[in-house]
Amino acid sequence: MSTFNKIWLSLAHMGGMEQKFIQSAFDTNWVVPLGPNVDGFEKDLEEFIGGDKHIVALSSGTAAIHLALIQLGVQPGDEVICQSFTFSASANPIKYVGASPVFVDSEEETWNMDPKLLEIAIEDRIKITGKKPKAIIPVHLYGMPAKMDEIMEIADSYGIPVLEDAAEAMGSKYRGRCCGTFGEFACLSFNGNKIITTSGGGALVCSSAEAAGVTKFLATQARDNAPHYQHSHIGYNYRLSNICAGIGRGQMLVLDEHISARREINNKYKKLLQGLPGISFLTNPSDEFESNMWLTCILVDPKVAGFTREDLRLAMEAANIETRPLWKPMHMQPVFEEAPFYGHNDSSCYTSFNKDSDTEPDRENSICGQLFEKGLCLPSHPGLSDEDLERVVGVVNTLP
Ligand SMILES: *Cc1c(COP(=O)(O)O)cnc(C)c1O
Repeated sequence: MSTFNKIWLSLAHMGGMEQKFIQSAFDTNWVVPLGPNVDGFEKDLEEFIGGDKHIVALSSGTAAIHLALIQLGVQPGDEVICQSFTFSASANPIKYVGASPVFVDSEEETWNMDPKLLEIAIEDRIKITGKKPKAIIPVHLYGMPAKMDEIMEIADSYGIPVLEDAAEAMGSKYRGRCCGTFGEFACLSFNGNKIITTSGGGALVCSSAEAAGVTKFLATQARDNAPHYQHSHIGYNYRLSNICAGIGRGQMLVLDEHISARREINNKYKKLLQGLPGISFLTNPSDEFESNMWLTCILVDPKVAGFTREDLRLAMEAANIETRPLWKPMHMQPVFEEAPFYGHNDSSCYTSFNKDSDTEPDRENSICGQLFEKGLCLPSHPGLSDEDLERVVGVVNTLP
């Protein structure tokens, strides 16, 4: 065992068939956006995710969120409710369409959007702005399904469409249904570090063939049906290339294996670290939740453990092991400083507030602020050996 080998947080893992699909694209000269691999990949995705959805392969998950917001009619002056605890790609497209994000805190079980705070936020935004938020973006972070029944019930009761961010949750299930099949739209991502990759890419899950058609139209520069180049809409260059889709088709053949491998790694970590005081895991709250365990996430309670998350991260770094703090919440990001945030002030009380309110509590004293403070992602990719895992756990055992 060499302590000098770098252990990475998350690595792409090829199944072997990817090259064959790429070769077929070269052989048939389909080295373009669109083509048989794109069609085949979309079909594979639709079969995998189920729920009678229509899927359009795009250049990224971010592009998918952008095209969904456009189709939901989100415009300048509108507000969109978004989970605060996420990667910035969930929220940036709200700005692309000129709208404003409103961030909502997490609940402690799934670490995702708190349905109770969602309802408080909707009510308060209606009171303050006189109109409903235009869309709701819950995120299945780290592969853990959000509480979709509660979220959909609230969204439906106000008639607000839901755009699920399932970028990290390919293959995760909530009550037997795949993440990405609950909302009117959902985004998937095939970026390099996700559970499957196309080197870079994403997809929009649509609820109708019409919406999938509009998505394809917008993603290919919005060309009207004419022999010349005619445009009556602003278009985008967001389609996935036939080469990248070839990688995707190969990855679909090993997706189930990847998910089992990540779940197994998570179980091994739990066994190896169980009983260690002050360390807890993000786990499925009940058998209704089946996370793909994209990344194994732990919380370090410094009062009990005797060391902080940052102590642990630095010790890992010194041992040539890459770990990463949990996502820094969007309401704590300088770029979204102005955005309203609805969060827990302490675990029992709900507070709604905005920039002008003089009762604004400490933004870090929210559930997701605490998760950021205490949380760490451990190396979690299918290429990790048992020796690698023992090396990671060994570092934890050297502290405090
Ligand atoms: C990766 C990711 C995205 C964006 O996907 P890209 O394909 O990288 O644009 C969106 N949301 C979350 C939560 C992600 O992790």
